[in-house]
Amino acid sequence: MSAAESATGALPRARARTLDAFPAEAEREWKGPFYFIQGADPQFGLMKAWATGDCDHGGDEWDQEIRLTQQAVQIVNQLTPRPRFFVLCGDLVHAMPGTPWRKEQTEDLQRVLGQVDTKIPLVLVSGNHDVGNSPTAETIAEFCRTWGDDYFSFWAGGVLFLVLNSQLWHDASQCPDLKEAQDRWLDQQLGLARELQCRHAVVFQHIPLFLQSISEDDDYFNLGSAIRQELADKFTRAGIKAVFSGHYHRNAGGTYGNLDMVVSSAIGCQLGKDAHGLRVVVVTAQRIVHRYYSLDELSKKGLETDLLKLLEGE
Ligand SMILES: [Zn+2]
Repeated sequence: MSAAESATGALPRARARTLDAFPAEAEREWKGPFYFIQGADPQFGLMKAWATGDCDHGGDEWDQEIRLTQQAVQIVNQLTPRPRFFVLCGDLVHAMPGTPWRKEQTEDLQRVLGQVDTKIPLVLVSGNHDVGNSPTAETIAEFCRTWGDDYFSFWAGGVLFLVLNSQLWHDASQCPDLKEAQDRWLDQQLGLARELQCRHAVVFQHIPLFLQSISEDDDYFNLGSAIRQELADKFTRAGIKAVFSGHYHRNAGGTYGNLDMVVSSAIGCQLGKDAHGLRVVVVTAQRIVHRYYSLDELSKKGLETDLLKLLEGE
């Protein structure tokens, strides 16, 4: 095995539109409450780029993001009981495809994520910085080679999880065929969710459908209103309970019918008043409850008491 392969070999990757860590036959059945950890936007390089006011070309340093992501990984590894998985909702690195520092940022993040306990599967979601604001077949292929499939599904503990490439709904002008392929696949998956009437079905994507309300104006941080409405209706019809996202670098969210739109702040650069943090998501027979904790809070205290309360509180 070459050095490059061994550096990344530990990271589980989605292949053939699913994750090997969760064999469907064993995971399809509900076996009781569990929880997972959601993080977003480690985005190696943004803090320096933001500080210098040059977000397009800056980002030549990411020591702080390395430290924060290491802290997050340490927290996740030490949690008891152990989380079912650790999902990172995109913008893994700041440098866009084909720009300086991308290779270095990617290698550093792979090294840090390689420290995640192998018993805690990593679930990786693509963000706009990972595949580009206007993705192409080539940028998406690069993401798949580096991090795994850009969209896929898996069962864990009786819950169907869908990981989506939201960039294809932001701008698919350079790769319309790939957008159509994801749309077809998604309709199939949503059909399955409806038909099987699984305990819960949950979506992970980088860009939120909306930040507060389905009727809000279009913005850099949400999906355009037409596609937002179409997806929200598709999701609610299929019984999707929650969409977890990032991209905003602040906590936000709202509801649409029975759908909980969750926007989590970043592990890395903050654009608002939230702290670097992670979201703890507890899945019980009836509900999906979640809370965002700062990394410092999680490093100081264990979660056992909170988790037990949440897990037993149904
Ligand atoms: Zn983003």
